[in-house]
Amino acid sequence: AQRDAFAGAVARTPVPQVANSGTADDARRAVATAHKAFEAWRDTEYPTRAAVLVAAANEMRARRDELSAVIVRESGKVWREADADVCEAIDFCEYYAREGARLFAAERLGQFVGELDEQWYQPRGVAAVIAPWNFPLAICCGMTVAALVTGNTVVVKPAEQTPGIARMMCEILWKAGAPKDALQFLAGPGETVGATLVRDPRVALIAFTGSKAVGLDIVQASGVVAPGQEFVKKVVCEMGGKNAIIVDTSADLDEAVLAVRQSAFGFCGQKCSACSRVIVVGSAYEPFLHRLVGATRALVVGDPSNPSTDIGPVIDEEAARKIRSYIEIGKGEGRHELTLDIPAGLEAKVGKPFVGPSIFSGIGPDARIAREEIFGPVLSVIPAKDFDDALAIANAPEYKLTGGVFSRKPANLARARREFRVGNLYLNRGITGALVGRQPFGGFGMSGIGSKAGGRDYLLQFVEPRAVCENTMRRGFAPGLE
Ligand code: NAD
Repeated sequence: AQRDAFAGAVARTPVPQVANSGTADDARRAVATAHKAFEAWRDTEYPTRAAVLVAAANEMRARRDELSAVIVRESGKVWREADADVCEAIDFCEYYAREGARLFAAERLGQFVGELDEQWYQPRGVAAVIAPWNFPLAICCGMTVAALVTGNTVVVKPAEQTPGIARMMCEILWKAGAPKDALQFLAGPGETVGATLVRDPRVALIAFTGSKAVGLDIVQASGVVAPGQEFVKKVVCEMGGKNAIIVDTSADLDEAVLAVRQSAFGFCGQKCSACSRVIVVGSAYEPFLHRLVGATRALVVGDPSNPSTDIGPVIDEEAARKIRSYIEIGKGEGRHELTLDIPAGLEAKVGKPFVGPSIFSGIGPDARIAREEIFGPVLSVIPAKDFDDALAIANAPEYKLTGGVFSRKPANLARARREFRVGNLYLNRGITGALVGRQPFGGFGMSGIGSKAGGRDYLLQFVEPRAVCENTMRRGFAPGLE
């Protein structure tokens, strides 16, 4: 029954048509409105703000299939991935609504006689939320509701590829009680609307998830203080990855093969957490590679609206061109084991480009396809002499986002915990699909500045601490005196 309901939603739900027609002037106007709305939203009681998130979560839960259907159609995600995107958005709402509560109640520090020391937090001001297309609901929603629940007013700028689902998210939040002026939606090009939002002197906070190039530009632009600007901007910036899974000689290959396949090719590798390097130790190399290539051949490339499809399209022509160019580069850097064929007529039917999952073996750690973020279904298989060598190769890139190890040696797992330096390390499982609250998500190095989404520290980035110390030794209060 659930399958029929989902199929029905995919068949009949239209993607809201949203033009990316916002301009730099629209961005300035949106910030002006959000700026005016700030004091009222800041002073709204926390439970009222949190109730907006809980109501939005309920609405998303009730419309889970419909929202997933829009994601399937707009971004080309397969059913399971689209549903996970919606579920993560719901989790962000529920989690941040509860996590924020402790920030706004004054906390007493110490127990000194005659002195009351307290600390609490205040929101920062206008937040610009600049979102990517690859988790078009979850990531956009996580950043937006984190900013809102902590009392900031928000201008949401979705990715150009996925404005429809982001618009639905804003409509759900408005219906749930977010004031229109406190939450604004503005679809438009990153180079104009995004760049203007980042530079506006009234924007106090930028929550960005996307590529390293844009992230670094935002960090730099935020450091420039405009005349009249009254604060230093805060940037929460989540960027790319070049993530590795190590398969050691003791690994259970039945598990490692399936986990690597899903981590590398789920949503065509278009996840910041995706596995793009698999580092295989010593004698495990040949059998692992043989089985991985065989398992990957079994993936079904097809229309994402069909439930049996494993591999749908990539997001757009520009992405397809970039990925294909890396496949050509790979051919000069190692052995081209596989690129899955695309069934004839599929691209025309779906209306999006496809790139088949591709595997290259015998790749050296310094190869371009082993160092640069491709953001597509291209996997480098890298041989390592021993576990030391594997760890050194795994840690080499500037990105520090996710990583994984398949091993049945406790000593190797213990070493990986200490020495595999990434934001999210997964042992004996796949490296994508972090859950809110259980696997707080985010990296360091060139993978970003900011603490983990879906973790206890995340909301702290959206607020500023205040402390008050009162001498309470009674010298006689005189409430009647002016
Ligand atoms: P992108 O950087 O191209 O775009 C992200 C957003 O930035 C879009 O809304 C875009 O319009 C906007 N933008 C573009 N130029 C801008 C500018 N000059 N000023 C301000 N805003 C601008 O990234 P993408 O292609 O949407 O997403 C893919 C990238 O995101 C990958 O690198 C991936 O690793 C990364 N990502 C990281 C995480 C994480 O949590 N670390 C999660 C998802 C995606």
